[in-house]
Amino acid sequence: MGKVIAVTNQKGGVGKTTTSVNLSAALAGAKRKVLLVDLDPQGNAAMGCGVDKDAVQYSSYDLLLEDVPAAETVVKQESCGFSIIPANSDLTAAEVNMLQIDRKERRLAEALQAIKDQYDYILIDCPPTLNMLTLNAMVAADSVLIPMQCEYYALEGLSALMSTLRNIQGSVNPGLHLEGILRTMFDNRSRLTKDVSDQLTEYFGDKVFRTTIPRNIRLAEAPSHGLPVIQYDKSSRGALAYIALAGEMIRKEKK
Ligand code: ADP
Ligand code: MG
Repeated sequence: MGKVIAVTNQKGGVGKTTTSVNLSAALAGAKRKVLLVDLDPQGNAAMGCGVDKDAVQYSSYDLLLEDVPAAETVVKQESCGFSIIPANSDLTAAEVNMLQIDRKERRLAEALQAIKDQYDYILIDCPPTLNMLTLNAMVAADSVLIPMQCEYYALEGLSALMSTLRNIQGSVNPGLHLEGILRTMFDNRSRLTKDVSDQLTEYFGDKVFRTTIPRNIRLAEAPSHGLPVIQYDKSSRGALAYIALAGEMIRKEKK
């Protein structure tokens, strides 16, 4: 049975999409079967994988609201080594359209059930808000992976996110756990980064991934080529970091 991981943080620009795409590619590179579900109406994950989000037959909107079977919404992206359920601007209407349906927070969980055992990992790229889409991701997920930038306000945002996590654990998804907190755009020469990072490890201990993702221009360039960084520049620091992260996750799993 595939492990479902929601990549989430209500703050924008912290590296959710970059992590979703590149961790998917790194896990696939380690011979794992991976599905990436794009749940952000911006469709950046789809684009970053080279999927033309506006030309696809089905998107995550159809999965959530049109009862299209999950298998039919999956795009096999050979160039990336994994599969993706793309998103596009159709998804902006999902929030409102979902208000009228039953069990609305369980739509994604129920839709993924049919294909879950075909994958080792299913990653969900969440939008930068705590809305119904994110709630669907957190109900469908076994765990949450939180990318964060080590800056002053990040810790405050994190405590809001942790309280949301506890609420969900106490209600709709008791099995949900914290996969880990990932330090992104990490600059180990910065004093502030170091201070925030120290506070983070003090409070969250081994829930903070040992792997950090450095700020690396290749990570920012790769999406414009429609490729994960591992395919775009395999020896870049960004690629090596995401390969290390996948290794860390797989080792943890084995323990
Ligand atoms: P989110 O999905 O949380 O909004 P993104 O993954 O889209 O964040 O990242 C925001 C921007 O920062 C993007 O332009 C992305 O290319 C860039 N970026 C993300 N991670 C890194 C990194 N480690 N080094 C350099 N640029 C990065
Ligand atoms: Mg994003």
